[in-house]
Amino acid sequence: MNNPFQNAMSQLERATKIKKFDEKFLKILSQPNREIRISIPITMDNGKTELFEGYRVQYNNARGPYKGGIRYHQDTDINEVKALAFWMALKCAVANIPMGGGKGGITVNPKLLSKNELEKLSRGWIKLMAPVIGPKVDVPAPDVNTTPEIMSWMVDEYSKITGDKTNAVITGKPIAVGGSEGRGPATGLGGFYVFDIIRQKLGLPESCDIIIQGFGNVGGNAAEILTDHGHKIIAISDSKGAILKEDGIDIKALNEYKKTNGQIANFPGSKNITNEELLTTPCDVLIPAALENQITGKNAKEIKTQLIVELANGPTTPEADDILFERNIPVVPDILANAGGVTVSTFEWEQNIKGEHWKEEDVFAKLKKIMEEETEIIWNRSKELNTDIRRTAFVIALERIESAGLVHVID
Ligand code: NAD
Repeated sequence: MNNPFQNAMSQLERATKIKKFDEKFLKILSQPNREIRISIPITMDNGKTELFEGYRVQYNNARGPYKGGIRYHQDTDINEVKALAFWMALKCAVANIPMGGGKGGITVNPKLLSKNELEKLSRGWIKLMAPVIGPKVDVPAPDVNTTPEIMSWMVDEYSKITGDKTNAVITGKPIAVGGSEGRGPATGLGGFYVFDIIRQKLGLPESCDIIIQGFGNVGGNAAEILTDHGHKIIAISDSKGAILKEDGIDIKALNEYKKTNGQIANFPGSKNITNEELLTTPCDVLIPAALENQITGKNAKEIKTQLIVELANGPTTPEADDILFERNIPVVPDILANAGGVTVSTFEWEQNIKGEHWKEEDVFAKLKKIMEEETEIIWNRSKELNTDIRRTAFVIALERIESAGLVHVID
């Protein structure tokens, strides 16, 4: 398995072959500004004490406060969090929002914890991180296996410690505690706006056959939005299995089925397939929306699609990128495709700081404008640079971070 941070650095190196950047600037970007590791002690429901390892990586804040989600996963480690924090710095620059890049996590399978244990763990993360985060310093948010409810516990704990009642320290909160309208579907919706522009550029049909890996916040919302816009989801997966239905999956019915059964496998009228089959089944568009390292040097030759849209972070390895480029399969990179989430998170932060609450239609209109404009900028520049969309998005992000002028801060 590739180390995601090595993948991220390899992507950086490849992009900087397309355009030269100041050596000192690149050196600064080769490591995070700060890595924090914590041990969170929790009294479990059985009375025993367990220690959980947690992280916050503050990668780069040249453009604004560190910003990025908190992941709860059994495989989360410091290298994953470093990679995700680096991509956040680039993503915020791609979306041209006034934020830097950070990310957090805990090595835990949250599905094995009771709700009481999960709340203690989440509050524990904040207690230990409170001195290094803050609305003007570092603003966490949800990621894999973290929810608005978890954000609500965290913001409550932070306000108890600091007295700060703006709630601007965390985004992705429930509406009642300062969450933004539209934050739930924001990543999927932002991805749809990007996809719709690229689809037209590539001359793909108005109704595409689409495969999605992942049925969580991002994959589930994307599936619903794409279906509402006339596309057909022919296969989809979660961590327990994948299903195929060539005439299209009824996503609303699948949502209900998952709520009742806790999985999507055996959904009536569909065929169970493996995750590997999911990725290599013929389709117009393939959307990884789960975890890193899914499209690799091993399976990239077998992928049969016309376009890949990365709603997950880091799903494609650099080796796979080369194979896909050779095979003329465009990849819309994570730092563009899934930037809708952090964009609406930033709207949430702005609303909290100003004491405002914006209407959903206004949030979506602002999101649409940003995603469409930045997609056009990246697409046009990729033609000038004569390279792929990932390298182009990297070049644009690096230019924007470098132009913040903080390169010589260490002198
Ligand atoms: P989530 O926890 O809501 O959902 C993750 C989904 O992936 C679940 O359906 C899970 O069952 C599935 N999954 C896990 N392992 C899998 C596997 N091996 N095969 C197939 N499916 C698997 O998380 P999310 O918020 O939807 O995040 C998904 C991806 O999107 C992550 O890479 C995350 O970093 C990225 N992302 C999320 C946001 C956001 O706003 N939540 C924003 C930008 C990027």
